[in-house]
Amino acid sequence: MAESIRITAAALLSAIAATVQAQTQVDPKLTEVWKPVPRVVNPGHGTAAPSDGLVLFDGKDLSEWESVEGGPVKWSLGDAAFTVVKGTGDIRTKRAFGDCQLHIEWRTPAEIAGEGQDRGNSGVFLQGRYEVQVLDSYNNSTYVNGQAGSIYKQHIPLVNASRKPGEWQTYDIYFRAPRFSADGTLDKPAYVTVVHNGVLVQDHVELTGSTVYRGAPSYATHNSKEPLVLQDHDDPVSYRNIWIREL
Ligand code: MG
Repeated sequence: MAESIRITAAALLSAIAATVQAQTQVDPKLTEVWKPVPRVVNPGHGTAAPSDGLVLFDGKDLSEWESVEGGPVKWSLGDAAFTVVKGTGDIRTKRAFGDCQLHIEWRTPAEIAGEGQDRGNSGVFLQGRYEVQVLDSYNNSTYVNGQAGSIYKQHIPLVNASRKPGEWQTYDIYFRAPRFSADGTLDKPAYVTVVHNGVLVQDHVELTGSTVYRGAPSYATHNSKEPLVLQDHDDPVSYRNIWIREL
């Protein structure tokens, strides 16, 4: 018995040695891939747009934006940022986007007013429908699928990475738009990843439809590209440094 184990072990060792030798004889070039060569993109300094990013707001003008009701934006512009003016309505980009990488910076008012959903509320609506919530969620309790970094009423953020009110915060959003069949039925849902102040808060979550305040979300067919919308929720939330890369 001991003899046969010894023979088996010896056979195993020699098999391993043969395998190692065979592997060292495989040409490493066989697993090198040389094409397609990735396009060159010059990265921005810090949070600035990379060379292939479309700047949607550089601190100077709102020429890429319009009121959702039509006409020019009625929000205020100043100090290299723009700010929601209560009651003037949502704004949207003049251009439309599908799959994208979006960088956007936002700031809730330094002076705390209101609580829950009534404190520094705004929102980034991808394709005008799918809301990444903007809210002062620093020591401010609300339903967790409605706090900052949530996909409103759909996905709770993994963590609360909020900065204090009055401080600038960043969202880096990676969005895969939904696909619809020719007959209007949903072919593939939307997916989104959100990084809040450098912290992953949504990890490729599946969206179940357009954001709604009441009831369950559902999909309604829309264009493959739709404008980006920012929400007027009556709070003077500010935005700056917004750029997008179509994917
Ligand atoms: Mg909101």
